[in-house]
Amino acid sequence: MDTRNILVIEDNKLNMKLMRGIFKLGNYQIIEAFDAETGIRLARQHKPFLILMDIQLPGMDGLDATQIIKSDPLLKDISVVALTGFAMQGDEEKAKASGCDGYLTKPINVNEVLETIAEIHRKHCQSH
Ligand code: MN
Repeated sequence: MDTRNILVIEDNKLNMKLMRGIFKLGNYQIIEAFDAETGIRLARQHKPFLILMDIQLPGMDGLDATQIIKSDPLLKDISVVALTGFAMQGDEEKAKASGCDGYLTKPINVNEVLETIAEIHRKHCQSH
């Protein structure tokens, strides 16, 4: 596992651009995927400590992708934080049920993202 790498799976180009800026501030290396299938492939290749997972994706959605990641012995230790624009009741529960370790609501709040990531980063640095 690489404690510098963060994989973002997000089909919205503006959100991806925003994440790029946020991770530059935090000195993280961002790996970008615009769909779940590519994201899972890049997770195997780059072994990020964290995946920010948009729920609404073209093709496979973020919840199904998280279930695949969490049932793969090589990927299951990666933290997955769900991103959703639909702050609907029940979304957080659905994300947790699919194996997500955390949950962020769009619109993206820079400080909230950095704090969430820093906390997860600390945990991974302690355990590896
Ligand atoms: Mn989306």
